Formats: sequence, C-alpha cells, structure tokens
Amino acid sequence: MKEVYDYIIVGAGTAGGVLSYNLTRAGANCLLIEAGKHFTKETFPATEADASAQMYWGGGMELSYNARMAFLRGRLVGGGSVVNQALMDRFDDIALHDWRDESGIEFFNKGEMAPLYEQAERMISLHTFRAEERTRNAELFARGCDACGYEWHFLRRAQKDCAFSKYNDCIACLGGCHRDSKQSTLITYIRDAEKEGLNILADTSIEKIEDSASGVLLYGIRKGERVALKAKKAILSGGAFGTTTLLLKSGFKKQLPSLGRYFATHPQFMFFGLYDEIINAHKGMFQSVASKDSGFRAKGFKLENVFAGPASVAMLFPGYGADHLEFMRHYNRMTCAEVAVRDENAGEILVDKKGNMVVKKDMTEQDHSRMQQGVEVLKEILAASGAKRVIESPLYFGLHLMGGARIGVDPVAAVVDPDFKLKTQRNIYVCDSSLFPNAPGINPALTIMALAHKLSRQLIA
Ligand SMILES: Cc1cc2nc3c(=O)[nH]c(=O)nc-3n(C[C@H](O)[C@H](O)[C@H](O)COP(=O)(O)OP(=O)(O)OC[C@H]3O[C@@H](n4cnc5c(N)ncnc54)[C@H](O)[C@@H]3O)c2cc1C
Repeated sequence: MKEVYDYIIVGAGTAGGVLSYNLTRAGANCLLIEAGKHFTKETFPATEADASAQMYWGGGMELSYNARMAFLRGRLVGGGSVVNQALMDRFDDIALHDWRDESGIEFFNKGEMAPLYEQAERMISLHTFRAEERTRNAELFARGCDACGYEWHFLRRAQKDCAFSKYNDCIACLGGCHRDSKQSTLITYIRDAEKEGLNILADTSIEKIEDSASGVLLYGIRKGERVALKAKKAILSGGAFGTTTLLLKSGFKKQLPSLGRYFATHPQFMFFGLYDEIINAHKGMFQSVASKDSGFRAKGFKLENVFAGPASVAMLFPGYGADHLEFMRHYNRMTCAEVAVRDENAGEILVDKKGNMVVKKDMTEQDHSRMQQGVEVLKEILAASGAKRVIESPLYFGLHLMGGARIGVDPVAAVVDPDFKLKTQRNIYVCDSSLFPNAPGINPALTIMALAHKLSRQLIA
C-alpha cells in the first residue's frame, strides 16, 4: 500500500465516470475502481447470453428475496451507462419538489439544477428521435395512443451515430455499443479522464472501507487476491446496491440506522402485442417513443414502447413447450410496451451473515393501484393499434435501482449529508443512485450525472 491517492472512487459507472473525469482534470491523483471488466467496442461479447453473463451482476439478473422482482445492473467499466438505453431526461418540478420535501435539501429546484444538467449534457452527444427513425413497433404504439387520445413523445437519447440508414440494429447495444455511438461514460468521461492521467483498476471488488484521521482504507479482492488501498478521500459510486452493501458490510448500520432503507426501483411490467403483419421490432432503434400524458404522470405511471433480444423475450413469456415455441415463432410479428410505476420507496437492501445481498422489495397497495391503472390504459392502446392478442409477462423488473443511502438533512432518516459526505464520517463521500430520496418516476441517469458534477465542483472548490 505504497501510494496514497487523493481520491479513490469505488464504482466506474454513471456517477463514477463523471467524478473521475472532473477530479483528474482538476489535477487530483485519482484511482477509479471497478468490480467488472474493462471492455472496448472490439471486446464487447458477441452474443446476448455472453453479454448477460459477463456484463451484468448475477450473470444477467438478481432477484428480490421472494423472487417476485428481477433487478438488472451493469458490472463493467462504464457501469449502467454501457448497458442501459441511454434515455436522458431532466427531472420536472414534481420530482424536484418531492425530493426537496423528502430530504430538506434546498438545491433540488430547477434553477440550481439547470447548470448541472447543462454541464452533464455538454460532454455527451444527444439525439431526439424523428418520425422517419421510428420502427413499426413505435408507429403502432403512437397510433394506439392517438386513437385513444393519449399524448406521446419522441425520446431523447445519448447517441452519436447509430447509422440506422445503414440498417444498424440497436438491440445489440444492451450488450455494449459496437459502434461507440452510445454515449456511455466508458467512451466519454472515462476515456477522456484516462488521457488526463486517471488510474483505473478493473476486476477489483471493494469489500470493506474504514475511515481514519489519516485517510480512508479500502480492502478488496482483485482476481482472487486480497488488496488494500489508501486515499485521502473516498467517493462511493457503486450504485444503490453496490454502495449500500459496501457500507453495510463495513459495519456502518449501527451509526446510520436508515442505511439500506428507502429502496425504490420504478417496477416495469412488460406486455407483448401479437399482430398479423410483420413488425420486426428488433430492427433499427427499438425504443424511440413513450407516453407523455400529464394524467399518467399525476397517476404515478408511464408507458414506454420497447423491445428486447430473442433470449430476453423468450424468458419473459410465461409457459413452456409448444405454447412457448408458438409464441417465439411470432418474434417478428410482436410489439412490446411496458408500464413503469413510480413506486413508494418502501424497499430495503440488507446483507446476510455471509455478506450476501438480500433485497426486500414488495409492491405496496399504492404501487399495485398505479400499476393496474397503467395496465388498463396500455391494453386499450394495444387493442386500438390492432393487436390480435396481448400477452403479459409474469416477471417484473427493476432497472432503476435507487436509494439505500439517501441524502438529506435529517440525522436519522438520511445517511448522507447535503454535501454528499457520509454522516458521522470525515473522508467518505457517496455520489450515485443510492442517494435518491425517493423514486422520481423519471429516467435517473442524467440527474445522477448532474449530482456528480455538483460534488465535483464542491471538491474542486
Ligand atoms: C437495461 C437497463 C436500461 C436502463 N435504461 C436507462 C435509461 O434509458 N435511462 C436512464 O436514465 N437510466 C436507465 N437505466 C438505469 C441507469 O443505467 C442507472 O440508474 C445508472 O447507471 C446508475 O448509475 P450509478 O452511478 O448509480 O451506478 P452504475 O452506473 O450502476 O455504476 C456502479 C458501478 O459500480 C460497480 N461496483 C458496485 N459495487 C462495487 C464494489 N464493491 N467494488 C467495485 N465496483 C463496484 C458496478 O459494477 C458498476 O459498474 C437502465 C438500466 C438498465 C440496467
């Protein structure tokens, strides 16, 4: 343990990428640590199965304690930003107001967040879809919305050159973009930070962290060997599961009773519409439109038109054998859309005696009611778009993992102070989705980046 870094950042994902760039650029000696591998566009796995196994925690998905809900999170340099859909949304007044209310933090308002969003957006290329880029899947969703009188809109995505006109299919990019079009932190912030001298340690999982007067000690495992590292300050950016479990395993629960609590995930319920015509929803950009109905926002759900690769679609369909085969024969004749619920943050992240993560997450009565309202509307839209049959998947997903180390002024209900410092500690900061005071009901990545810019500015100042 010869070297003492200025900052060790644990987790090279959405927040970790932004922080490592800003701090390295400001002249700090930074080490960015990542449990997963360091891929490039040349080395991303070639198949859906390999991508799941090598780029996601749990070999593809992790399950809640009763196996009712499945969670997806990236495990690689770039984290969620490499495997996600890269939809970039600013929070609206409703989300910011609720965060201010829950946390007691004044900077959650449009005026103070705007320059942070602008800074996050400047580093990436953003594209809002146009009618000519829509797939038949998206067209039918929009047609169904129009027929039922619901508002929809084109999505904004972090991408540079997806070459749809050259028949590129973005379905593969859930396993890493082979064109370096998707603007993950891997190819933007982290790549640029490397040029400025950032140190990166991939394949290294941090298992314990200790704060002391002389700095922070981090203990981990790298390719089967134990490692110990030291820094003046550490920033935890391992995401809601990664950061929370690291703090729990490090024994902070006694001092911080809310650690692990207030977990939310925007549960997503998938529906397939089967049609007589060829749809080919896996071609081109598979997610370009979503609902934008203020009534849905008020009711706590949104609808997104989406699709998935054949292995994922096969897993989502209920049943076996001939029925299943018949369903998969329709792969090119189906559309897919989901109901995403703005859930109550009643979940909890725990670790058992062996140090394994356990996630308690059940739908509350309010969550069920929001989901039901969304399902009714979505079925109406699918029927209006001409679907001959609508099939509901029994599995529901959490892709937006939020909370566990929530930020706020309250000494008991919050875990992290408004200046991002872990309460009761001097040199440990938290900056990622674990901070979220509650579920915003909006795609989280851009706000995670904005918060990482805020902490960067504060540390550099
Ligand atoms: C399939 C999918 C689609 C999504 N689509 C969208 C979207 O379109 N728009 C949107 O806004 N959001 C989307 N999300 C969610 C979004 O990607 C995440 O909310 C975001 O990436 C979280 O950022 P983060 O910095 O908190 O953590 P992450 O980006 O998850 O990064 C955390 C990193 O820390 C590493 N790590 C964890 N623990 C340790 C440890 N102990 N030691 C070392 N490393 C560790 C992890 O391996 C990971 O790489 C999607 C997510 C998924 C899975």
